[in-house]
Amino acid sequence: MRGVIMNAPGQVSVVDRPDPVIVEPTDAIIKVAATCICGSDLWPYRGANDVHDAPMGHEYVGYVEEVGSAVTTVKPGDFVVGSFMASDNTCEICQAGYQSRCVQVHGMGGIGTQSEYARIPLADGTLVATAEAPDTDLIPAYLAASDVLGTGWFAAVAAGVRPGSTVAVVGDGAVGLLGVLAARELGAERIIAMSRHADRQELARQFGATDIVAERGRDGVSAIKELTNGLGAHSVIEAVGTQESMMQAIRSTRPGGHVGYVGVSHGVELPGDKLFYSTVHLHGGPAPVRRFLPDLLDRIARRTIDPGKVFDLTLPLEQAAEGYRAMDQRTAIKVLLEP
Ligand SMILES: [Zn+2]
Repeated sequence: MRGVIMNAPGQVSVVDRPDPVIVEPTDAIIKVAATCICGSDLWPYRGANDVHDAPMGHEYVGYVEEVGSAVTTVKPGDFVVGSFMASDNTCEICQAGYQSRCVQVHGMGGIGTQSEYARIPLADGTLVATAEAPDTDLIPAYLAASDVLGTGWFAAVAAGVRPGSTVAVVGDGAVGLLGVLAARELGAERIIAMSRHADRQELARQFGATDIVAERGRDGVSAIKELTNGLGAHSVIEAVGTQESMMQAIRSTRPGGHVGYVGVSHGVELPGDKLFYSTVHLHGGPAPVRRFLPDLLDRIARRTIDPGKVFDLTLPLEQAAEGYRAMDQRTAIKVLLEP
């Protein structure tokens, strides 16, 4: 099969890779219908993580080709969505809703789903099948559920968004934008998107943002305070993962409020004194997307949400390198790859 490899920072190629086979009886093999490039793939691309000939990709939707002898909940032909973390969905951690930290967790990034086929470990726990094969136009929405929608949703839940809340969102990538959508669906009354880019501001408004703040740092915090009677937001979604964005999120939250952080942390160090006096709740981490999948797939099937709008560039898998460039240069919000 063909699949994407990151040879070194900034260098991506599409190569012949071995066809995946069933290794464990709990595995399934899927034919990937659509995959995509994640903002987190840009960390190694930009040299922030070591990378050498690594298979890439952890987001996927597709059709089941084959299942291992122990798999009971999906069968060949099913259209399935799974998270970027394979999980058994039965251990105590999964049952508590934290499937991304399952005791048997497998990171799908190590498998590499920017490819024609993929092996899905723990298929019964990981995959959720739709009732029927979806209309083609819904495939991007289902693909978004695999990571960015589920992650934005978790961020909103972790930030304690409830009906009537005021929510601020730090980060205007796909996760931040879908955090806006999640906040709206969870009943937030006021949603402040922080973005300096006109196209992303527009999409944020389509997803439910009521206010846009273009300033960052001290000025960004002041702007949020001005919009919230000097108090700060009840809930703040942090979807970047840098020191600046994390502190921006904490300082934009009112005392007693909540920060939901899902940007993959790079070099963030929380100063104890600022944390102590902020009096905010912090909760986040790799999103347990699996917790939300049944609900999200239902909303997509009923067409009450359209998270697929975050894909503003679609390329054949063979042109993955162009997709990485577009995301790196921020000429695309999120790139869908068609095997
Ligand atoms: Zn588990």
